[in-house]
Amino acid sequence: VGKTPSDSKPRKLNKIGVVGAGTMGIGIAMTFADVGYPVSLTDISKEALDRGQVRVRSLYDSQVKRGRISEQDRASRIQLIQCSVGYDALADADLIIEAAFEAIDIKRAIFQALDGIAKKNAVLATNTSYLDVNVIAAATSRPQDVLGLHYFSPANVMKLVEVVRGQATAPDALSTALAAAKATGKIAVIAGVCHGFIGNRMLRAYVRESGLLMLE
Ligand code: NAD
Repeated sequence: VGKTPSDSKPRKLNKIGVVGAGTMGIGIAMTFADVGYPVSLTDISKEALDRGQVRVRSLYDSQVKRGRISEQDRASRIQLIQCSVGYDALADADLIIEAAFEAIDIKRAIFQALDGIAKKNAVLATNTSYLDVNVIAAATSRPQDVLGLHYFSPANVMKLVEVVRGQATAPDALSTALAAAKATGKIAVIAGVCHGFIGNRMLRAYVRESGLLMLE
């Protein structure tokens, strides 16, 4: 996948935006709130957003019960995750991570909308598991700012994050994603655009071979 962008200065990262308040979106929002970043968590549906907000609270509640965080941590982290419907609240985010349904048309429509609203130099990331990051980037007028940030479930717990470099991804966008991963205690690996990137690509071969062994 080419050189690592070690000589490229990351862009500034003050505020995070998340699109989609489902399983992955809430885990990603918590990942950033856990280390003090303000997050705008958005969804297209009010019901889904409300469900996501309830899940965030209950996940933090259980962390308090298990003695992992204090009541004060819980309150401040919940406060850091601001929830809203639509894309308007993402206008001042430095890094926007899309975690909506795994369908290329939906992701392209979202990136087109983000292109219209995100500030200049914002890094636009997709959490897609399998879709082509270049095709998603091409829905915007700024493919240099687009990349994949592929978290694993539950995103606030799992350490690995795949940073997917598109054909147009700028080195400083890539280093921003690496810096974001580091700031949130994740282990980032750079992947190229291909089916399943690294983890899911390995898993697929592993599951196929275990199936063949069973048949034999
Ligand atoms: P999910 O169904 O739990 O959540 C998706 C959310 O996106 C829903 O709340 C939905 O209302 C919202 N949404 C749909 N269209 C939208 C739009 N146009 N604008 C804003 N919000 C919209 O899905 P998930 O499991 O969290 O997966 C999200 C993405 O993450 C997918 O691309 C998936 O492949 C990827 N992913 C999932 C996992 C996993 O284990 N679940 C792991 C890694 C990556």
